[in-house]
Formats: sequence, C-alpha cells, structure tokens
Amino acid sequence: MSVEERLAQVKDRIAKAERIAKRPAGSATLVAVSKTFEADDIRPVIAAGQRVFGENRVQESQGKWPELKAETPGIELHLIGPLQSNKSAEAVALFDVIETVDREKIARALADEMEKQGRAPRLYVQVNTGLEPQKAGIEPKETLKFVELCRNELGLAIEGLMCIPPAEENPGPHFALLAKLARECGVEKLSMGMSGDFETAVEFGATSVRVGSAIFGAR
Ligand SMILES: *Cc1c(COP(=O)(O)O)cnc(C)c1O
Repeated sequence: MSVEERLAQVKDRIAKAERIAKRPAGSATLVAVSKTFEADDIRPVIAAGQRVFGENRVQESQGKWPELKAETPGIELHLIGPLQSNKSAEAVALFDVIETVDREKIARALADEMEKQGRAPRLYVQVNTGLEPQKAGIEPKETLKFVELCRNELGLAIEGLMCIPPAEENPGPHFALLAKLARECGVEKLSMGMSGDFETAVEFGATSVRVGSAIFGAR
C-alpha cells in the first residue's frame, strides 16, 4: 500500500470513530508523526493534503521542516517529544504547537523565549498518567497546580493536555483520566492516541491523535 493510501485509511478510521462516538466530523485532528522520516518521505503526504505534523526531536526537525514549511504554506508543526531548556529558542522558532511542557524550568524558558521572539506557539502540558519513572510528564495530581502556575505566574495560555499511556496497558482509563484533568483545568484540547489506539482515543474525546507508523510505515 502507498503512503497516500495509508493516510486515506487512517483518515477514514478517524471519521468512523467520530461517527461511532457521535462526535462532529473533523473534531479529531490527525497529527501525522514523521519522526525518523526524511523530507522526501514527507512530501507525498503533504501533497496528499495533510498539513498537521508531529516530530519528537528539535534538532532532527530543524534539518527538514524549515524547507518543507517554506514549500507549502499552512503547515502546522507539533513538538511531541521531550524538550530540553537549552533547545527552547529553536523550539519556539520552529514549532506551532509544543505538546510537552512538563516542568517549571521548561515553562519559564519558553515564556522567556516567546517574549524575546514575539512568537507564541500554542502549548500543551504532558501528563504522565501511568506514573512511569522513565517517562516525561507531570503527575496527574500536580496537573492543575502546574497549569495554574503557567497561567498565573508565567502568563502562558495552556491550550491542552497530552499523554502517552504505558505501552502494555489498556489505554482507555488513561485517556479518561486525561479528559477528566482537562475539564478540571479548563483546557480544551486533548492530544492522545497513536497508531495502536487512536480510535479508542477518539471515543474518549481526543481532539488530536498522533499517528506515525500507520501512515509512514515501520521505523
Ligand atoms: C512516535 C510517537 C507517536 C507515533 O507513534 P506510532 O505508534 O508510530 O503511531 C505518537 N506520540 C509520540 C509522543 C511519539 O513519540
């Protein structure tokens, strides 16, 4: 199957999941995760109409996205991987959405850079719903406090929450927890669901799903 066919198939599956969940068509946005793939692998997906992409490394993204963005207006690029504060200038300059704000140090670095550059990527807070020690993200019980710190002390509008459930667990309860935290925090966007579970995520209210291998193939 070609990458265009796989993209169409993923979009059909999202549309079907929206119908089953009785959600409006198009209410779950597809973020096509292009990490490890090169510009020439990504161009056919852009040509097929996809405009929203996700990457997990700042440096890798700098090697391909400035050119791809220059070629096609209207690209929206999401950072979905951990961010080091020494990369915050590059991240603010390149990304339109940063989904992985997860500690005060990085929030402060982003606030400083946004002011310096006069650029305001939209921000999500990553939540470690499975309390996994090796995984980034704020603890669920700290989420409201952290979102309020971002809002009230740092002047950062937090638009959404993001999670990556533990690989071996049923993702449903993690998606439900993220949705509950978002309601408590008064944030609207929910980034959850990947190739293996994006339909479940749509059922639980994902406003965006991050799908890589189901579109681009195995990494
Ligand atoms: C790689 C990645 C994805 C996409 O994973 P697939 O299983 O290939 O769909 C989604 N979210 C994050 C944070 C990732 O790093």
